[in-house]
Amino acid sequence: MSHDAPTLAGRLSQLVRVPTITPPDGGPLTSETARVFEELHALLRGLYPTVFSTAEVIPVGRAGLLLRLAGTGDGTGATALGPVLLMAHQDVVPAPTHDWESAGWSHPPFAGVVQDGEDGLTVYGRGTLDDKGALLVLLEAVEDLVSEGWAPHEDLYLSLGGDEESDGPSAVAAIAELERRGVTPALVVDEGGAVTTGVVPGLTRQVAVVGVAEKGVVNLEVSVSADPRKPAHSSTPPRHSPTAALGRALAALERNPHPAVLDDIAVRMFTELAPYVSGPLKLLLSRADQLRPVLAQVFPYVTAELAAMVRTTTAATMLTGSSAPNVLASRATAIVNMRVATSSTLAGATRHVEKVVHRAVGSALTVEVRVLEGHEPTPASPFDERWDAIRAAIAASYPDTLTVPYTMLGASDSRHAARIAPAVYRFSPLFMSAAQRASVHGVDERVSADSLVKGVRFYRVLLCGIA
Ligand SMILES: [Zn+2]
Repeated sequence: MSHDAPTLAGRLSQLVRVPTITPPDGGPLTSETARVFEELHALLRGLYPTVFSTAEVIPVGRAGLLLRLAGTGDGTGATALGPVLLMAHQDVVPAPTHDWESAGWSHPPFAGVVQDGEDGLTVYGRGTLDDKGALLVLLEAVEDLVSEGWAPHEDLYLSLGGDEESDGPSAVAAIAELERRGVTPALVVDEGGAVTTGVVPGLTRQVAVVGVAEKGVVNLEVSVSADPRKPAHSSTPPRHSPTAALGRALAALERNPHPAVLDDIAVRMFTELAPYVSGPLKLLLSRADQLRPVLAQVFPYVTAELAAMVRTTTAATMLTGSSAPNVLASRATAIVNMRVATSSTLAGATRHVEKVVHRAVGSALTVEVRVLEGHEPTPASPFDERWDAIRAAIAASYPDTLTVPYTMLGASDSRHAARIAPAVYRFSPLFMSAAQRASVHGVDERVSADSLVKGVRFYRVLLCGIA
């Protein structure tokens, strides 16, 4: 198969043109959405006939596909360490189909335009980075290897999620299927980090950041209610109203963030970055281990990303209150979305919010904090031969690139795998500049064709050990 940049760009363009957007709830797909996914599946079978004819193909959840390539007990690369699970999702977040120009897009989001950009030949469109680019390079590498007669040592599973963006049931179903079969993957790779620049100010090298853990997520409903036996009118307002008290509670949450902690993963990341940082941060980062408390206090003032790396973040999102201009709310609510640091737990993070909001509101009104849904932060994956295999594959595909661990700030499908597998690494083998990182779930999402070529090499080296 040809792996030159224009060919890969053309194939990714085909995937982008199928708008695989899953609905936000976990219910069944509409017939139209089901048709769109069938179109993508047909396209994938056409592009990767050897993979699909060799593998056992197991449909999972909504439009998810789990592929199993049987191990032969004879092989090199990552599957020599045990069964391997490689994940990428087929679905994308919505993008405007009509007024795309006024939304700021240079090209229609689902046209898959291939054109020269700042990093050479570039594919534009929704999903090029998240996650169809990674899906493409994964399937390209496996198609190639299997066509050459390669087979994995132990079973290789490919989980092509159907609804990652809507937090749907496909990945859960894929992991449940592995559990049912008694499979414990020795290694899991899914989206997360990437090859990038500018991770910290003054960094002179290109860096591959690999997520070795993932923060937890919890949504809390904070509500403030007045005594229902004392109705009040907006023409004669009481001294304390639920709406204003809720405002005080939310402001207090901003003033009293969760404690900042520099964990072992961050220490390792910054210590390894330090030699390549110029300017005042160099000395601080090189002594990250001894300076944990200092750096934890300083980082929140540097960038929002660094702040999120050292603490549980709190973001007030949805608000409810009164239903009319002249009606006092008897109950006001806010949703507080928290990303829970690996050094904390859901319970610990929730307690902090309870303490702060109770103090801010006082005793004249009733405050309630209710956990709506959430999951704990994942444990950290090991730095053993599996980490070494990932590093080697990055070194072979992106020469002169430093590989460092980090804690993923968002949530992805791989957290379900973390339940059954001890070594989960979150990394897409694609280059993403700061502008490209901002285009994920944003405007003008795009990937350079050169990075697709390197991405294929990454999976190839990971799976067979040689480029
Ligand atoms: Zn994604």
